[in-house]
Amino acid sequence: MEDQANQQRMESIVSLCKRRGFIFPSSEIYGGTGSVWDYGPLGVLLKNNVKAAWQHTNLQLRDDMVGMDAAILMHPRVWEASGHLEVFADPLVDCKQCRQRFRADALAEGRCPECGGEVTEARSFNLMFKTFMGPVEDTASIVYLRPETAQGMFVNFKNVLQSSRKQPPFGIAQVGKAFRNEITPGNFTFRTREFEQFEIEYFVPPDQGEQWFDYWVDQRLQWYYDLGLQREHLRLRAHEQLELAHYSQATTDIEYQFPFGWSELEGIAHRGDWDLRRHQEYSGRDLTYFDEQTRQRYLPHVIEPSGGVDRATLAFLVDAYQEVAGGRGAAGAEKEVVLRLHPRLAPIKAAVLPLVRKDGMPARGEAICQRLRQSWMVDYDEGGSIGRRYRRQDEAGTPFCITIDSQTLQDDTVTVRDRDTMQQERVPQAELEVYLAEKIGPCR
Ligand code: ATP
Repeated sequence: MEDQANQQRMESIVSLCKRRGFIFPSSEIYGGTGSVWDYGPLGVLLKNNVKAAWQHTNLQLRDDMVGMDAAILMHPRVWEASGHLEVFADPLVDCKQCRQRFRADALAEGRCPECGGEVTEARSFNLMFKTFMGPVEDTASIVYLRPETAQGMFVNFKNVLQSSRKQPPFGIAQVGKAFRNEITPGNFTFRTREFEQFEIEYFVPPDQGEQWFDYWVDQRLQWYYDLGLQREHLRLRAHEQLELAHYSQATTDIEYQFPFGWSELEGIAHRGDWDLRRHQEYSGRDLTYFDEQTRQRYLPHVIEPSGGVDRATLAFLVDAYQEVAGGRGAAGAEKEVVLRLHPRLAPIKAAVLPLVRKDGMPARGEAICQRLRQSWMVDYDEGGSIGRRYRRQDEAGTPFCITIDSQTLQDDTVTVRDRDTMQQERVPQAELEVYLAEKIGPCR
C-alpha cells in the first residue's frame, strides 16, 4: 500500500515537472533517451538557485574558500592517476538470447532476469564516456568526459595555491557537469548519465583530517536543513570499513528519504593524501606545501564533500510537493498542489496580479512588475479568476502574490499573499522591495 502511494507521489511530481516546465525528458519528440533530462523555464531557475545557494554558503560567506571552473575534457593521464581507468568499472553480462545487458551482481542464479536465457561471462565495463580529441580517431587521441569534477581541482592545486595566496586549511569549490555511462539509470533525475555536481576539495595539514571531516559533515547537513528539507527526511550514513573506496579513510553519506527509498544526496570523504600523491607521481610535479611557520613540507590531506545538483534539486522538489485534497479554499472541491519551496530556491519570487483587467490596474501592475524585476524573477499574470491565478503560482512554488485592487488606486497599497499561510497583508507599494528582501533572504 505504502509502496503504491509512494510510487503515485513520484509519478505526480514527474507529471507536475513536465506540465509546469520544470523538467522534460530529453529529446522527447524522438522518443527520449530515458537516461538524461532537460530543465525547462521554471526548472532552470530552480536549479540555478540551488547552485547559487551552494556558492553563497560555501564560497561567498567564507574566507578559506575559492572557486574555479575546470574544463570537462582533461588529459587522459588524469584518469590513470585518479584510478578511474582501472577501477571505475562494473562487471557486466550480456544475455545471449535477448541481448540485454545486466550488472553481474544483480543476477540471481546466473541467468537473464528478463527471459531466463544464458548469459555471457562477466566483463568489466568502464563507466567513463570515451571520445576523440582532434581530427584523427585513433587510440592516441582518446579522451574521456569527466566522471566527476574533483580531478580538475586536484590538478590545479598548485595553481590555486600560488595565485590565491591561501594556505591549508583552505578549499576549492566547483560546480559543473559530469558524465557516467550508468548501467541502470532511473528514478527520474536521481541517476542519469549526464548530471551536475557541486564539489569541495578542502586541503588540510595531515594531523587535522579527522576534525575537518567531522566539521564538513555537519556543515553540509546544515545546508540542507537551512534550505528547508524536513529533518526527518535526512539522515547520515557512515560507510563500513569494507565499503570504503580504495582511497578513502572515512566516508559519510547524507541520505534523503525519496519516495523510492533512502538514497544518497551527497558523500563526504576523507581522502587522505591519495589524490595529490598520485598526481605528483604521475605528473612528476612537486605538489607539496611548505609551511613557513612550522618549517615543514607536507602533502595536504583532503576532505571532499561531493554532492549532486540534480539530486539536491529533486530532493527540494519532492520535499516541497504537497497535495491538498478538496483544495485549500473554503469552497474548493478539487485537489490543489502547493510547492512549498524555500523562498531562496523558488524560481519566481513574486507574481503581480491586477484584480481586474480595467480601471488602470494592469498598468499599475506592469509598473510594479518592472520595478521588482530589477531585483528578482517576477511574473505578471492578468488571465483568469484571482483564485485560479493564486493556484497557478502555488503550484509553481511562488512564495508571494502581489495583488493590485481598487484600494491600490486610492492609497498606493497592494496586498501581498503568502503562499504557505495564504494570509494577506496590505503593504505600501513603495515599500515592496524592503518587504520582499527581508522575506526572501540573500539569494535572488
Ligand atoms: P551512487 O552510489 O548513487 O552511484 P556515487 O557514490 O557513485 O553515487 P559519487 O561518486 O560519490 O557518487 O558522486 C558524488 C555525488 O554526485 C553523489 O552523491 C550524487 O549526488 C552525484 N551523482 C553521482 N552519480 C550520479 C548520477 N549518475 N546521476 C546524478 N547524480 C549523480
